[in-house]
Amino acid sequence: MTDAVAFDHVSRHFGSIRAVDDVSISIAEGSFFAMLGPSGSGKTTCLRLISGFERPTSGRVLIFGEDSGAVPPNRRPVNTVFQDYALFPHLDVRDNVAYGLMVRGEEKARRHAAAEEMLSLVKLDAFGDRKPGQLSGGQRQRVALARALVNRPKVLLLDEPLGALDLKLREAMQDELKALQRSLGITFVFVTHDQGEALSMADRVAVFNEGRIVQVGTPEEIYQRPRTRFVADFVGSANVLSPDICVRAGAGSGWASLRAEAVRLVPPGEGVVQGTVASRRYLGAVSRVHVDIGDAVIAADLAAGTPLPEPGATVGLTWDATALHRMEEA
Ligand code: ATP
Repeated sequence: MTDAVAFDHVSRHFGSIRAVDDVSISIAEGSFFAMLGPSGSGKTTCLRLISGFERPTSGRVLIFGEDSGAVPPNRRPVNTVFQDYALFPHLDVRDNVAYGLMVRGEEKARRHAAAEEMLSLVKLDAFGDRKPGQLSGGQRQRVALARALVNRPKVLLLDEPLGALDLKLREAMQDELKALQRSLGITFVFVTHDQGEALSMADRVAVFNEGRIVQVGTPEEIYQRPRTRFVADFVGSANVLSPDICVRAGAGSGWASLRAEAVRLVPPGEGVVQGTVASRRYLGAVSRVHVDIGDAVIAADLAAGTPLPEPGATVGLTWDATALHRMEEA
């Protein structure tokens, strides 16, 4: 199957800034693809390379197998939902949604019918006559979504679309976006710096750092087997063990990651390493205990009901050798 989008060694430099630096990715048609990374890592520039608002300094962006180099933004089967929604305050919701069709010269009855259909899709049937200022943040977000979908793009780009919403609404919208993507079957490319958001929604995740992709994989792969220290730290899924600790733990040399739920507490003198309980925190289903082992702190997630040691207590830590995942240093 042809990929919806593919980057073939794409770079975009601004003077000496390598915003995007030799990125190659394939985004399967019909998939939900997340670009995850800290601020300034090049995610938005990648979206703009897909929409055509940026051109590569070198390399090629392929859209459904065709080099998009000479294709202007309005000729690409792509649309974008922005974080600030960019709605027109003076237009009502219906006209906001229909805007893209007006620009294309569709007649009024047709574009209003299409707008109503999109509003129904995002569950805003009754809101067509309102102005954006009369909507909640979540409702405005849906209008932005409807507006981006009205042109029937084959690829929908979403740049931190949930960033302006509070946590509860964001979680609800995550579920809705995922359901919408499944039912429409179109390709979503979603930019976020929120690892939970990327891991919970995407089929595949690309982790960005300083203009480069450091790992691409399923959420499980990224979470369970971070390829580099940066990914392990950024995704926050794992303890990162230095070569020193790996040697002490009899686990060979090199960096390794170790998920907190794989670490068990044992009596002092037993286990792989010894340490002192630095803190403990109740997190609901688990309690997280931080153990200071001298040159590092190791997090252990203990299931609810496990007796918790007091801060300051000396404990042993152990884990199964199979729980250690070797990483490249980076
Ligand atoms: P954020 O999450 O903050 O939006 P991002 O990962 O999307 O960040 P980009 O917006 O792609 O990152 O920016 C990547 C780098 O390129 C940054 O250092 C940014 O300052 C720089 N950059 C982006 N656009 C331009 C431009 N038009 N001119 C100069 N530098 C730019």
